[in-house]
Amino acid sequence: MKRTSLLLVVAICLQIFCSPLQQSLAQSRSDMVPAEVLDSDAYYRRAVQRPRLRNYSAQIEALLRRMTIEEKVGQMTQLEIGQVTSGSDSNIEIDPAKLEKAIVKYNVGSILNVNGHALSVDKWHQVIGAIQADAQKTRLKIPVIYGIDSIHGANYVRGATLFPQEIGMAATWNPALMQRAAEIAAIETRAAAIPWSFSPVLDIGRQPLWPRFWETFGEDPYLATVMGVAFVRGLEGTNVAGDGSVASSLKHYAGYSLPLSGRDRTPALIPENYLREYVLPPFEAAVRSGARTVMVNSAEINGVPGHINKFLLTDVLKGEMKFDGFVVTDWEDIKKLVSQWKVASDEKEATRMAIMAGNDMSMVPNSYSFSDNLLELVKEKKVPMARIDDAVRRILRVKYELGLFDNPMPNAAIKSNFGKAEYSQASLQAARETMTLLKNEGNILPLAKNKKVLVTGPTADSLISLNNGWTWVWQGSEPSLYPAGKMTIQQAIKAKIGEKNFEFRQGTRLTRPPGSPAASTPTMMDEEVNVREAVEEAKDSDVVVLCLGEGSYTETPGNITDLTLSETQLRFAEQIIATGKPVVLVLVEGRPRLISRIADRVAGILLAYNPSDMGGVAVADVLFGDYNPNGKLPFTYPRSTNNYLTYDHKLFEVEDTAFGNVATRPQFDFGTGLSYTTFSYSDLIVTPKSSPMTGNVAVSVKVTNTGRRAGKETAILYVRDEVATSTPPGKRVKRFAKIYLEPGQSKTLSFTLNRSDLSFIGQNNRPTIEPGDFTVMIGGLADKFTVR
Ligand code: BGC
Repeated sequence: MKRTSLLLVVAICLQIFCSPLQQSLAQSRSDMVPAEVLDSDAYYRRAVQRPRLRNYSAQIEALLRRMTIEEKVGQMTQLEIGQVTSGSDSNIEIDPAKLEKAIVKYNVGSILNVNGHALSVDKWHQVIGAIQADAQKTRLKIPVIYGIDSIHGANYVRGATLFPQEIGMAATWNPALMQRAAEIAAIETRAAAIPWSFSPVLDIGRQPLWPRFWETFGEDPYLATVMGVAFVRGLEGTNVAGDGSVASSLKHYAGYSLPLSGRDRTPALIPENYLREYVLPPFEAAVRSGARTVMVNSAEINGVPGHINKFLLTDVLKGEMKFDGFVVTDWEDIKKLVSQWKVASDEKEATRMAIMAGNDMSMVPNSYSFSDNLLELVKEKKVPMARIDDAVRRILRVKYELGLFDNPMPNAAIKSNFGKAEYSQASLQAARETMTLLKNEGNILPLAKNKKVLVTGPTADSLISLNNGWTWVWQGSEPSLYPAGKMTIQQAIKAKIGEKNFEFRQGTRLTRPPGSPAASTPTMMDEEVNVREAVEEAKDSDVVVLCLGEGSYTETPGNITDLTLSETQLRFAEQIIATGKPVVLVLVEGRPRLISRIADRVAGILLAYNPSDMGGVAVADVLFGDYNPNGKLPFTYPRSTNNYLTYDHKLFEVEDTAFGNVATRPQFDFGTGLSYTTFSYSDLIVTPKSSPMTGNVAVSVKVTNTGRRAGKETAILYVRDEVATSTPPGKRVKRFAKIYLEPGQSKTLSFTLNRSDLSFIGQNNRPTIEPGDFTVMIGGLADKFTVR
């Protein structure tokens, strides 16, 4: 049934976004799954439409009337799986006594995640079946909602199809592809009987030190908004109860990604106008699109921990944005109000503060203290029944909408929706479209297949680096869990060019301190393996593919204090470069590690981000010309430490040319991404040149493939407000379009800018539009118009 509806969506997209010419091209090319996005706004307006779900108010109210306080508090409680199982990793078994305590005694409404590592589809059916069977033994038979971090595919289900991490998906500038990836993640998560995913991350990636930078869609709120809505639509579909849909969880609301220190879960200072301009828009759009749950920022902004921020949770999210799903805390965050943030002296007071701020469900997750405390608080009338009822109503609504009341038990028939070949084809397509070519001096790339190639470096032979965190285990760090048959970069290159011209030397590697448990070890360390051998081999080669970057990490274990690539890697790179052989640098990394020491001395630079299981193949395809790269940087790649500017900085901030201070300029600008063909932009037309405050502005531009290869190009349309009462940024992304062009082919793109595209959040924290001149910029062209 899901397949039919997917086909329908693809067919509708083709009709809406593609001209007849486009359609015929689409049919003739294997990489056209799904269709290109010819206008980000048209795509967005479709995807953001909230599906009409059945109204369950009558059932919810009837149930609520029958519930005791204990049952209500139970629904608001979420425990981790270890609270109902014994054993760890794949050897977990339901522990009947623990389960009875959680479900029958405490009426727990939700359970989450894994105890160690990913489980098979069968094991998930068994575990969740046992949990739901117990729930059926309770007085009101309210089903449990199981939640899981399906971050880049169903990564806690053994053998699932994995996709590039969000930062790479952002580089595709292809929301239709993002939607398809999320659809597959949803299908495979549901196939394992799990109806709720803790994704997407909608935090904005404007602090590159932050260890979860790669979990974001990068620095631009418009790109993150369009991709975020695509992600939600992919997960939730048009009927979240469907076999191929799961509830999403927008996280981490809000401001989590902007710690001043760059370290995870540390304070941020975000004025309200900045919050509304850069942080809230992706969340607001995703809420509009119908997202069923929201997870809270584990850190603090402006001295207020996310979990007691009533203004953000209740006034803005549930009030202004009209969010009618439920809010779940992040991991253990009520306890941390006491232990870490010190805004409450005991857990009971912290519980009161969090619930009154607007949290509906607590990811406790390792004890019953939340339930006990909340029960007391309700009995003592310190938390009003109305607040409890509101929270429970929201939770029950999502359970009804997910179809859990109709079919609480796992449906064995949907197991077969798992692991289809077409899913890995989509993963390969996504990995290819993430590939971002940042430098190609003298057209070193694509490489000829008959040249002698040395592949070397710490990320050349690592599925861990290709995938990063949230892969089979939290930190992505358990090599034994990576499926056989997925190729690392060196394996994929060898498969492509054959053994004769191929050499691999490890050089240096990324490793974890011996003996440390995989789940919680700090960022991986660099270690020399056979540097001398690699350098000798380089001398004997025609070209060196040098793969540098990072290991796997997420959250606090991924904290670093310096964005510079490790000294071990830089020294190794310098020795390879010193051989005088041309070097192509491949970066496999989740955040922009600084490479200014070597960037000018290598001929080519390909940024792969964390492209996941098919990433090795995608890198090889691009290096050897079997795929024409088309990714574009979704963030600004800094050149030096302490000098990070996003592309939408104020113009004067980099006007340093008079002093020749190039160090303040980024290594690579936002939007950089080369191709093996060339595109030219012409005929920019902006009409009308002068319009009243209420009118729209039409922009059209012609894009031509002036090179000799077919390729895809993303046209990015920026607007600058020339003079404003809040200092205006030099430019902001307002639209984009990704198109495919054969050599010599042209296409005219048309966009419509409306008033909200020309407004900004003013000093009064409200959207403001002011008369005056605006500049439109696209593909190196610019034109002006005036708003009267
Ligand atoms: C992370 C969340 C995640 C949750 C459950 C937290 O530590 O911040 O992103 O969804 O754990 O695993």
